[in-house]
Amino acid sequence: MNYDVAIIGAGISGAMIARELSCLNANVCVIEAEADVAAGATRANSGIVHAGYDALPGSMKARMNVRGNALMPIVVKELGVPYENCGSLVAAFDDEEDKSVDMLLQRGRENGVPVKKISGEEVRKREPNLSRQIKSALWAPTAGIVSPFELAIAAMENAAANGVQVYLSSRVTAIFRKNKGFIIQAGPNCIETRFVVNAAGVYADDISRMAGGEAFTITARRGEYVLFDRSQPVKVSSVIFGAPSEKGKGVLFSPTAHGNMIAGPTAQFTGKEDTDTTREGLSAVMNGVRRYVPSIDRRSAITVFAGLRAMGNRHDFIIEESKSAQGFVNVAGIESPGLTSAPAIAEYVTGMLVSMGVDGTKKTSATRIRKPIEVFAHATPERQRELIKTDPRYANVICRCEHVTEAEIVQSIHRPCGATTVDGVKMRTSAGFGRCHGGFCMPRVMDILSHELDKDLNDITKCGEGSWILANKTKEGAR
Ligand SMILES: Cc1cc2nc3c(=O)[nH]c(=O)nc-3n(C[C@H](O)[C@H](O)[C@H](O)COP(=O)(O)OP(=O)(O)OC[C@H]3O[C@@H](n4cnc5c(N)ncnc54)[C@H](O)[C@@H]3O)c2cc1C
Repeated sequence: MNYDVAIIGAGISGAMIARELSCLNANVCVIEAEADVAAGATRANSGIVHAGYDALPGSMKARMNVRGNALMPIVVKELGVPYENCGSLVAAFDDEEDKSVDMLLQRGRENGVPVKKISGEEVRKREPNLSRQIKSALWAPTAGIVSPFELAIAAMENAAANGVQVYLSSRVTAIFRKNKGFIIQAGPNCIETRFVVNAAGVYADDISRMAGGEAFTITARRGEYVLFDRSQPVKVSSVIFGAPSEKGKGVLFSPTAHGNMIAGPTAQFTGKEDTDTTREGLSAVMNGVRRYVPSIDRRSAITVFAGLRAMGNRHDFIIEESKSAQGFVNVAGIESPGLTSAPAIAEYVTGMLVSMGVDGTKKTSATRIRKPIEVFAHATPERQRELIKTDPRYANVICRCEHVTEAEIVQSIHRPCGATTVDGVKMRTSAGFGRCHGGFCMPRVMDILSHELDKDLNDITKCGEGSWILANKTKEGAR
């Protein structure tokens, strides 16, 4: 297997870079350790499209954030991904926090971001549910919210439809030099390539070392979240951040692109596989969010989860060709705002690769448009009737909380780079994202996966190897 570019990691960075390269006359592959796209930080984050006032002026983060924010509305439209330009507020409760708002205002202006300071009264006019103790806030109208894993899946679907080869369940364990290129050992695959892009998240330091590239370290910093039911009455319409103070940044409270409310994240250094939630972390999230919205009720929480930030020791995005391993490009230390920055990172890395020798001519057959799965629950009654006529499986509701039909689940399995696991179906259709969190629909989703993939039901997993759900048939083996 011979490629021009092999991208290691199918998070938002790898998926966006693959999509950008898929529009050129280059032979590209993506190599991912897990069974699906968006298995790392891309799956578990706040989903905020940051405006760009937070990053240090002149840093790579600031540059990518501001450009990524500008590109995001175009990209989500092309890919058909849920996004809303809802704006963000940084709320200050005292003089110290008010000074932080001034500092962010200044930084935002230096980064070229539209920002303004507003009074506590103006804050409550925008957000009537917010605390009366808020003194002032920074208002950033270009901030937004996006569904992070859907963005990565959509980008990878688009890339795959344009000819990019995606190797899933293929962990890279060794990289060798061969003439002017590389040989990558990834699970059962031995992949030969001229250029490598290292977008391996918290493991990007190990991948760089394997290729004889620069030494840098990536440390995992866990962020824990509480997700609230859609029916939860205490809502805000924009993203609410805490102002940085001696005690840290606090947690955010925000709508999600699917209409729930989310609170978090905490920030704690931990191991690279440690996505456990903790009693202390979740208490810190609830206490933090009560500062903004004192009446929020813990009983309306539907789930909790944690994600791992890839914190590089250079405290900025590391996006450069290795000096010691020519042809090897690091896209490392992509902590927040990496989701926002991804379209800009893809544009920048593609430019770099073309200047390094990748064919930069446009592929005439490539498209930047990806048609999303039509959401039955959002269709008009006339359209629903039409859909049922074309495919009776639209009349079979599998997920009762989110009203996801069998037809949508089947489509999610058969799209390019389609779902092969229960979580894969969930990320692509929302089946299992509702109040019961899959309690009702999971066995039915498993049945559909088993039927459509022609796999034994016992082999259907939650999210790949090691996450089996069934051991054997009831009473099988019983004497
Ligand atoms: C708690 C939290 C909150 C955040 N909030 C925001 C936010 O609101 N807005 C924002 O803009 N950003 C946010 N971010 C940052 C954003 O989520 C990340 O910057 C982004 O998801 C990083 O994407 P990535 O593709 O670089 O890494 P990842 O998504 O981690 O992807 C790396 C991929 O590489 C794969 N991989 C690793 N090792 C190997 C190997 N050996 N072989 C093959 N594959 C391998 C992994 O399985 C993984 O799929 C947040 C992050 C966290 C953790």
